[in-house]
Amino acid sequence: MKKLIAILLVSLLALGAVAETLPVLTMGTNAAFKPYEFYEDGEIVGIDAEIAAAICDKLGYELEILDMDFDGLIPAVAAGKIDFAMAGMTVTPARLESVNFSVSYATGVQSIIVPVDSPIGSVDDLYAEGAAYTIGVQQGTTGDIYCTDDFGAENVLAYKTGPDAVAALAAGKIDCVVLDNNPAKAYIETYSNLMLLDSDYAVEEYAIAIALENTELKDKIDAALNELIADGTVAAVILKYIPIEEVAEQTAAE
Ligand code: GLN
Repeated sequence: MKKLIAILLVSLLALGAVAETLPVLTMGTNAAFKPYEFYEDGEIVGIDAEIAAAICDKLGYELEILDMDFDGLIPAVAAGKIDFAMAGMTVTPARLESVNFSVSYATGVQSIIVPVDSPIGSVDDLYAEGAAYTIGVQQGTTGDIYCTDDFGAENVLAYKTGPDAVAALAAGKIDCVVLDNNPAKAYIETYSNLMLLDSDYAVEEYAIAIALENTELKDKIDAALNELIADGTVAAVILKYIPIEEVAEQTAAE
């Protein structure tokens, strides 16, 4: 009988029944932010999805990813509706008042997309005396927050997603779009009338947002992430989605 139970147990293990008993960590994201999170064959994939999966593997959790509006992510983390948010999310002093952030795993640059025949040639042109360009941004992002501060809410049009803002620019409805550089590159690919300026608006750090009171989870995520950074896993995931020439270009530009 003992032998039978042992065989049964081994078979259950082999069937992955044990994996189903793992506790679940829910991650909120906004899956319109290629190459960090986007849909492929109906599934959310990308740099953040893969790093989150590696963290959960290390910590013994099953990962569940929920797609939400970007500006709903921090409130959802703060209210405990999701365990963490990972969405190419920039660490800012204002956000640190509502959530904690893990160690940083990537650098982001706020970049400017313009029509190929645009009079805007650099960030400075946006600040020029008498300039009143209509700037498209993604609602609730640092691009939205900084542009509203710098150029006034009347000159900023916020869209639900980055791709929506880029589509409005391609259709001639606005003068430029301020967006994180890698998604900007990914989303202008389909528009021959748009280009990315070689002029950085802001350089930022991406990290994982966790509820202020959940310091235990923050410590666990930091420990796992530090190991994944040290053993080269994070760099390998980033390189898988962002070709090496582009990484080199971005590093050189900083
Ligand atoms: N890095 C930007 C921010 O945190 C944009 C992130 C995003 O759109 N997913 O505000």
